[in-house]
Amino acid sequence: MKPAAFEYHAPRTVDEALALLDAHGDEAKVLAGGQSLVPMMNMRLARPGVVVDINRLPALDYLTLDGGALRIGALCRQRAVERSALTAEHCPLLRDAVRLIGHLQIRNRGTVVGSIAHADPAAEMTAALTILGGEVTATGPGGERTIDADELFVSYLTTSLDPRELITEARFPVLPAGAGWSWTEIARRHGDFALVGVGVVLSVRAGVVADARIALTGVGPTPVRATHAERALAGAAPGDALWEQAAEAVRAEVEPDDDIHASAAYRRHVAGVLTGRALAEAHGRAREAA
Ligand SMILES: Cc1cc2nc3c(=O)[nH]c(=O)nc-3n(C[C@H](O)[C@H](O)[C@H](O)COP(=O)(O)OP(=O)(O)OC[C@H]3O[C@@H](n4cnc5c(N)ncnc54)[C@H](O)[C@@H]3O)c2cc1C
Repeated sequence: MKPAAFEYHAPRTVDEALALLDAHGDEAKVLAGGQSLVPMMNMRLARPGVVVDINRLPALDYLTLDGGALRIGALCRQRAVERSALTAEHCPLLRDAVRLIGHLQIRNRGTVVGSIAHADPAAEMTAALTILGGEVTATGPGGERTIDADELFVSYLTTSLDPRELITEARFPVLPAGAGWSWTEIARRHGDFALVGVGVVLSVRAGVVADARIALTGVGPTPVRATHAERALAGAAPGDALWEQAAEAVRAEVEPDDDIHASAAYRRHVAGVLTGRALAEAHGRAREAA
């Protein structure tokens, strides 16, 4: 399979990349790891007239800890995030989520920021940014702006980004001290996109749930934060009965679609099962940390 003809540019500076995006607007597409864009071009699901390859911009290849967040540059590969000691120590939820992206070869090339920009609601990185309350820096003709996860993801493969903007950085807040976490998902085969994925961050104080965050993949057009279930958990005593109550709340609040991979009813059921498992695992980790 071959893509439709396109003009290729490999800028050497961020300013050059921005000038190209500004000049070509929605005719242009940024090429990062190419693990989503290239297959879509080959299948002619995407036909950009201009490709702006950012792989020669080493200034965007970084992962640092700063101001209570992991700062991940646009060229930082998924595998680098997965293997980083900073990720393991400060944001193990992110490490566990990145590990489940496709296959090793995909993660060697694919970037965390590219996955966020692609905005697939089945992707781990969109839900990880959502559950952690993360944000991105979008740089464009008007300078830099910060976009929260909640404002970024609009629908399937659609963000609030202007076509002339480049996401230069994503920031994932580190886990709160003593919090437990879990990333749990089900896929038909190893390396496939998950049918449903659930991330949980749980803090317990004085014998009750002090804070609970739940985000899901594969159950809507964007990553979904299960706010009803979160409210049901807050202030309650942890345990199997509470996890089951939260699982029911998740089943009631998600609105998955049927597709060729699974029915909506199956996804809804699995969302509840995985929520229960993820809460139990996160609680175990919170107890270990206490
Ligand atoms: C076989 C296979 C299995 C996969 N399994 C999974 C999986 O289980 N989970 C998962 O999450 N993903 C999966 N993926 C997708 C993979 O994670 C991609 O790496 C990711 O979706 C896109 O990142 P990329 O760096 O490759 O971006 P690219 O493919 O280069 O770009 C993707 C899109 O984002 C835009 N873009 C990229 N970077 C920027 C930027 N800095 N600013 C603005 N726009 C930008 C591009 O223009 C394009 O529209 C799989 C891919 C394959 C081929």
